[in-house]
Amino acid sequence: MNKGSLTGFHKENNEEVWLWDDLPELDMEVGYKVKALLHYEQSPFQEISIVETKGFGRMLVLDGTPQVTSKDGFIYNEMITHIAMTTHAEPKRVAMIGGGDCGPAREALKYDSVQQIEVVEIDERVIEVCRAWLTKEPDSDKIQTTYKDGYAWIQGQKNKWDVLLVDRSDPYGPAVSLYKPQFYQNVYDSLTKDGIAVFQSGSPYYNLSSLSKTIGNLEKLFPIVHTYLCTIPSFPGGIWSFTIASKTWDPLAADLNRLQWQTAKYINPDIFQASFVLPSYIKQIIEKS
Ligand code: SAM
Repeated sequence: MNKGSLTGFHKENNEEVWLWDDLPELDMEVGYKVKALLHYEQSPFQEISIVETKGFGRMLVLDGTPQVTSKDGFIYNEMITHIAMTTHAEPKRVAMIGGGDCGPAREALKYDSVQQIEVVEIDERVIEVCRAWLTKEPDSDKIQTTYKDGYAWIQGQKNKWDVLLVDRSDPYGPAVSLYKPQFYQNVYDSLTKDGIAVFQSGSPYYNLSSLSKTIGNLEKLFPIVHTYLCTIPSFPGGIWSFTIASKTWDPLAADLNRLQWQTAKYINPDIFQASFVLPSYIKQIIEKS
């Protein structure tokens, strides 16, 4: 394998190749043993690679940071999607910023009320590379893909979306704008009067300050804001957070009969409710946000 200038790849003395995810807030890196580099390119926005790992199957890596793996990606995709789709009684128009392997679009299609899904991705090459090496995006005429910066796209959206999923990368590279205070205001304005948004809000252990800022920004706008957790083995620390912000529907009072869990592999009614149970160190951050 030619590691070229790839971010995060190191050859060890015994010629094993590892991908190291550097966690800038801590003096720590997480290593993944690599079997093969299947694809590498520098797009106009970021370094994109597909890696065959020993433990997690195929992995999409952007600028050296793992995004999704073929083995445990279902957990992320189900958890960013189903909580909001169940909380809203009748989600018809659904948008997602950040495309990747389009896993959330696949999950959202399971709800009969859905009429339209718009996937907004800044980098066309990510979707094409995922199509070639990971799963194909679902085949449905309800899905439309827009190649645009989500920050620019949302400014033209007013009172339109029942559910908006912000499947953003961590706050580096092209995703930085998706953490600006104005972005949260624009998300609020893009939603219908009972609309709901969900944000990928990072590791609640390693990205505490980012989570705290996300919650603080959302609480200034939305009456209902909750952080919920899931366990993603391939992500640093294993524990991951999403934050849901809603104008009227409360996920804690959702009708779980609506949850499309029968074909899911992670979420079910118990997980839905348990995901909102938070350890004290996270509750303390939320109280201070
Ligand atoms: N969950 C996805 C999957 O299963 O593949 C991973 C999505 S990844 C967390 C985030 C995606 O957001 C990447 O595809 C990246 O190119 C895209 N992205 C980053 N900044 C963006 C922006 N400003 N506007 C739209 N998409 C953006």
